[in-house]
Amino acid sequence: MTGKLLVIGFGPGSEDHMTKRAREAIEESDVIIGYKTYVDLIQDLLDGQQIVQTGMTEEVSRAQEAVRQAEEGKKVAVISSGDAGVYGMAGLIYEVLVEKGWTEASGVEVEVIPGISAINSCASLLGAPVMHDACTISLSDHLTPWDLIARRVEAAAAADFVIALYNPRSGRRTRQIVETQKILLKHRAPDTPVGIVKSAYRERQRVVVTTLEKMLDHEIGMLTTVIIGNATTRVYDGKMITPRGYQRKYTLDAEEQKLKPHERLKKEVEPWALPQSDTASSDKPDAYQLAEEALQAIDPSRGTPGDHNTEQQQRAAAFFKQKAIFEVAVSPGLANKKFTAAQMKVLADVAGEEGEIEYTPHHQILLRIPTEDPEQIRRRLEQEGLMLSPVGDVLQVKACDFCDGEKADSIPYAEALHQRLGHLKVPKQLKIGFNGCAMACYGAVKEDIGIVYRRGKFDLFLGGKTVGRNAHPGQPVAEGLEPEELVPVIERIVNRYVDEGFPNERFHKFFKRVGEIEGFPYREVPTIKIENAVCGD
Ligand code: SAH
Repeated sequence: MTGKLLVIGFGPGSEDHMTKRAREAIEESDVIIGYKTYVDLIQDLLDGQQIVQTGMTEEVSRAQEAVRQAEEGKKVAVISSGDAGVYGMAGLIYEVLVEKGWTEASGVEVEVIPGISAINSCASLLGAPVMHDACTISLSDHLTPWDLIARRVEAAAAADFVIALYNPRSGRRTRQIVETQKILLKHRAPDTPVGIVKSAYRERQRVVVTTLEKMLDHEIGMLTTVIIGNATTRVYDGKMITPRGYQRKYTLDAEEQKLKPHERLKKEVEPWALPQSDTASSDKPDAYQLAEEALQAIDPSRGTPGDHNTEQQQRAAAFFKQKAIFEVAVSPGLANKKFTAAQMKVLADVAGEEGEIEYTPHHQILLRIPTEDPEQIRRRLEQEGLMLSPVGDVLQVKACDFCDGEKADSIPYAEALHQRLGHLKVPKQLKIGFNGCAMACYGAVKEDIGIVYRRGKFDLFLGGKTVGRNAHPGQPVAEGLEPEELVPVIERIVNRYVDEGFPNERFHKFFKRVGEIEGFPYREVPTIKIENAVCGD
């Protein structure tokens, strides 16, 4: 029989929060070595094992005894609360082994079994205080000089780590927590949330949420862990919550589709559905205006989208003290691809030193600007004639520049699509490519939905796979669609995707899954076997 060292972290204390392997390891051991309180906590699992109980301060002799018995051929469980590798017995066992010249190949077998450490069990009772970069600091100066501990508290406080304080105070050691609070207050606000958890998942569990200023008014002892929030941590409904980051991104609110199904295709609200006249394009804005008026009559709030949502998000950002980053995509127009110098200037101006200006592959420039006042930025951009779009899973109409007059006949349809569906919230980003002639040089057939204007009618392509090494164009599903059919057909396709698409399901996958949209059957795309690479691989 060969001996084995089982170094076990049994979690905070309740059996429910112990791992299966920890339980098995206790059961399969011949000898259990641990501090008396710990042995009591796992009492229910014991089945005749020899118990070697020692006091708190005899850790070294405990470790030596464990190694000695394992070398005699016994299976020895060395138990720690939480995780054995966090201020537990695992390191000490290895220290003893190293001293004896132990190696894995020649020496006794060692298995370290992980457990839920106090930082995790206590955090779960407080809400979600850890979430972001965090550290543990033990305030016990038994084996670590206080100077070093104080320096670590100072560094962690300055770097805005969430801090879990282990061994915060004992009967004899009472000064450290007072000093620690002083150091923390140099770097963090007095109202910084602090959680104090005693005996997590044990009989005398106690959970207190307080502040850095008031933390010493509460009982803190040997069985307590203290969690200090970072600069963004807040208390909501008694729960201590640290957000995932320091920035909260928000965008223009996605506009809803304004018409109900029974309102569609009525001349007064959808003038683009009227038979195309041969009038010059100078007439077009009138029809457009009529549509705008009609839409406004139906929904007076049109034209001021997004205010409510933005406000709510800003309140949340203020609550968590996060920097609000306004994200918006900008272009010179739907069919216009040329920026003016004044437009470039205003972009630079609103972005300022702190904002980002990113060039995207989608006929847009992306702005990310730290601001609490998106309205003012929106106004300035719009005044300069720029078209603004929200960022995220919204529909975008990507039109070509309709390079001469004849091709411009189809512009109103692109505009109508943009007007009706642009910015609509969809399961996953959806691009409708719209090209004004059969050259399709802006790559409409490569988009999720492609529309190509040809001899007064439209060709339709569905389900392009726009990214990846196995990208492919959309399938040609209809040739020569009548102009008045176009907008309603696209609208029905998009609505079906909105209604039935799974969250994050790309349009080409949706098309494949449902097999048919608007009577257009999905046809299997011939595939060359290429695994899609993860970006960066
Ligand atoms: N190995 C253990 C830590 C041992 S040091 C772990 O990973 O959790 C002892 C300190 O751990 C205590 O002073 C206390 O700060 C913390 N601690 C351990 N168990 C705890 C529990 N159930 N509730 C609250 N704090 C606990």
